[in-house]
Amino acid sequence: MSIQFGPEYVRAIAPYQSGKPIAEVAREFGLDEAKIVKLASNENPLGMPESAKRAMFDAAAEVGRYPDANGFELKQSITTKYGVSPDWITLGNGSNDILELAAHAFVQPGQSVIYAEYSFAVYALATQAVGGRAIVVQAKDFGHDLAAMSEAIGADTRLIFIANPNNPTGTFLPASEIEAFLKAVPSHVVVVLDEAYNEYLAPELQYESIAWVKQYPNLLVSRTMSKAYGLAGLRVGFGIAQPVVTDLLNRIRQPFNVNSLAQAAAIAALNDTDFLQKSARMNADGYRQLTAAFEAMDLEYVPSCGNFVLVKVGDDDSAGADVNLALLKQGVIVRPVGNYGLPQWLRISIGLPEENEIFIAALKKALT
Ligand SMILES: *Cc1c(COP(=O)(O)O)cnc(C)c1O
Repeated sequence: MSIQFGPEYVRAIAPYQSGKPIAEVAREFGLDEAKIVKLASNENPLGMPESAKRAMFDAAAEVGRYPDANGFELKQSITTKYGVSPDWITLGNGSNDILELAAHAFVQPGQSVIYAEYSFAVYALATQAVGGRAIVVQAKDFGHDLAAMSEAIGADTRLIFIANPNNPTGTFLPASEIEAFLKAVPSHVVVVLDEAYNEYLAPELQYESIAWVKQYPNLLVSRTMSKAYGLAGLRVGFGIAQPVVTDLLNRIRQPFNVNSLAQAAAIAALNDTDFLQKSARMNADGYRQLTAAFEAMDLEYVPSCGNFVLVKVGDDDSAGADVNLALLKQGVIVRPVGNYGLPQWLRISIGLPEENEIFIAALKKALT
């Protein structure tokens, strides 16, 4: 018998499945990289803002030195934008880092963590990595059933993950429902409100989660620079919570978890409101473009508030994988979601208008 290392709960982890990189698809299918359309990882199709690119190049001169471990200037930018003082902010190597820090800080092996069916895959990974016991609450209309999640809280529950909007389904919880939930959650249970797609919300859906942070010491709001801000490759995210929670996260994070290029670019991007507006506008247009095509093709989709849409491409459990392969052969990368328990569906990130067009044409071909 070969030796086994590590605890059983670590060995049981199924690795995260990311979107296929463009170069890999080009190699595998013998395609020209330049012609491949990637709509698989909810990235900003505009790429990074020019302002952030300039800031990053300027900062490159100093990469021989360690980054600012406390991210002073980046925290100042967040402070200005969100009206919380620096001791309420945790910087992360992507918001993924914040989610993991929360699991490490608050959950001991055997204690329970609650999240919804069809919610972000990292919640399961972060829970398993610390030996937490996952309580997966059945989805309601592809989204979070907050009443059922509240019911599921037990004496050993330490953490609850909520994504709003949710990935991969794009569902949205109105502010009133979240607020009622926060009121009902016992104060020793930390709630992570993951708002990775917040910047895409239509004005009439926007809400003030930072005001809740001021009211609830057990609330941690997480935000990312990877989606609407266009900095996915640099890995920057941040958490906002009261100092009792923030202090713990900062004790266990790596001292230099956000690199200096990422800090410089994030400061520029946070201040680039034009880029953010342009991203949101293009996303809204692309959403109409994709969903109009789905309707014309008589395909069911889940109404989305994010920068992606979940679409049903067949009734067989092989439909998602089959159509995905047919799309890959045409140089279009989308995300199969069989690992989420949605084998008949594909998640499509909203791209540039011409990318959406290429995808729609490829989908039509794949379905005939
Ligand atoms: C993309 C995403 C994140 C995190 O992305 P980072 O790049 O690690 O900041 C977090 N939560 C959800 C729901 C996401 O879809």
